Amino acid sequence: MNTTYSQFIDGASTSNANSETWINYNPANNKPLGEVSQASDEDIEAAVRSSERAFHIWKNKTGAERGRVLIKAAQILRSRLEEIALIETNDVGKPIFESLAVDVSSAADALEYFGGMAATIHGEFVDLKNAFGYTRPEPLGVCAGIGAWNYPIQIAAWKAAPALACGNAMIFKPSELTPATAIELAKAFMEAGAPPGLFNVLQGDGKVGARLVDHPGIAKISLTGSVSTGKKIFTSAASQLKRVTLELGGKSPLIVFEDADIHNAVSAAMLANFYTQGEVCSNGTRVFVQRKIFDSFLMQLKNRTEKIRIGDPTDPETQMGALISKVHMEKVNRFIESGKSSGATLLTGGVRPKKDFKGRDISSGNFVTPAIFTNCDDSMEICKEEIFGPVLSILSFESEEEVIDRANNTPYGLAAGVFTNDIKRGHRVIHQLQAGTCWINNFNITPIELPFGGYKQSGQGRENSLAAIQYYTQLKSVYVELGNVESPY
Ligand code: NAD
Repeated sequence: MNTTYSQFIDGASTSNANSETWINYNPANNKPLGEVSQASDEDIEAAVRSSERAFHIWKNKTGAERGRVLIKAAQILRSRLEEIALIETNDVGKPIFESLAVDVSSAADALEYFGGMAATIHGEFVDLKNAFGYTRPEPLGVCAGIGAWNYPIQIAAWKAAPALACGNAMIFKPSELTPATAIELAKAFMEAGAPPGLFNVLQGDGKVGARLVDHPGIAKISLTGSVSTGKKIFTSAASQLKRVTLELGGKSPLIVFEDADIHNAVSAAMLANFYTQGEVCSNGTRVFVQRKIFDSFLMQLKNRTEKIRIGDPTDPETQMGALISKVHMEKVNRFIESGKSSGATLLTGGVRPKKDFKGRDISSGNFVTPAIFTNCDDSMEICKEEIFGPVLSILSFESEEEVIDRANNTPYGLAAGVFTNDIKRGHRVIHQLQAGTCWINNFNITPIELPFGGYKQSGQGRENSLAAIQYYTQLKSVYVELGNVESPY
């Protein structure tokens, strides 16, 4: 255990001998990976001062100059893809095939997308006859990014890329459970030519997050996390009227009509529940299947789910890894027990495997086999609460009107999916679902070009796409007189 996860402030790792520390464990075997040190108040002050200095340099650069740094940082991430993917897999417990194909690549995609866009961010000209006006989208200042543990480098890059493209600086606090790859992103920015402090990293738990939210030097907060943390941050930011973007949890519906391509719909239901061990905010954990195809859908789903290769996350053939922590695994197990005791039938999975698909001992890791519950009722806890683990609840329905009502009967509104070969029905149903991110005939696809975010209690604001720019800029209107001042005095 040689690794120390320290703060990254003003372009370098810093250590504070007096700080509180904790051990970061590998979820696949619960062996220590390294020691994390909690940012002190002095670290927070140093990070804010350093980011303010960087902001004054960065905001005066042209968009093209900023874009070049972001695109270079993306190239650095891609050149270190395998190394960073392995760090992520060891830190999070997710299979290496995912970290290679999605996590690091999607972080690089965001840097390229917003790097390419930086030079095009512009205001409007308004002709006013004897005057004219124009607008300037100006940066906000030093923004705080606060991350969840399921997609650490992707979350850091999805926040940093638009923030920096718009001319802001960012202090990023990763989850206390996944301290590793935000530092790799910070190093990539430095190597790409960013001024020191443009992207600082502070390690720590919610106390460090709360101090950042309250700090008068922070102009805006972007959180990816749970609804309860989102509410705390929203309340606290309101006292200083700070801007917030909140990417929160969900209990999303996936609706499969009887005319759907069943093979594709089953693939989507599995992706929507078992990718990243089910630890995905937008997961379609309520799978509504129309009565006529229910039995055949369920049989195919069960057969294919039982073939998922669970095991050592560093093996390229592994399809499902370990849950983030023992505490989280116990929480997921409590939900599975709650499903059983409320009368649902656990059709398959939901147990701790001792051996992986190659017969290796995985009993010390946080593994839970993918679980399918049938005979469910909308009012059961497993159908209402976000489990954030590999637990799928399947529900049958008869009519379109009925399923729309049931799908919307939740305080969440992050995502929704519909499977049908009837193009009119696909759009008609999607337009009535109360969710910010929707798919027709697929699920959990999040291209950087499309806005991502939630309705209702699943969030505020949007990440990705052109839409993200408005959340990292403030609009200045300038009126320019070409005539005389008309005065009644
Ligand atoms: P969490 O809310 O416990 O923690 C998220 C982050 O907030 C962590 O960095 C934590 O240290 C910090 N934090 C906690 N209390 C804080 C406070 N009072 N002030 C400031 N910061 C505070 O969430 P988690 O367990 O890390 O992540 C799982 C949750 O994240 C799930 O609900 C999931 O749905 C959600 N999530 C949402 C998205 C999305 O894009 N919508 C993506 C991934 C995860």
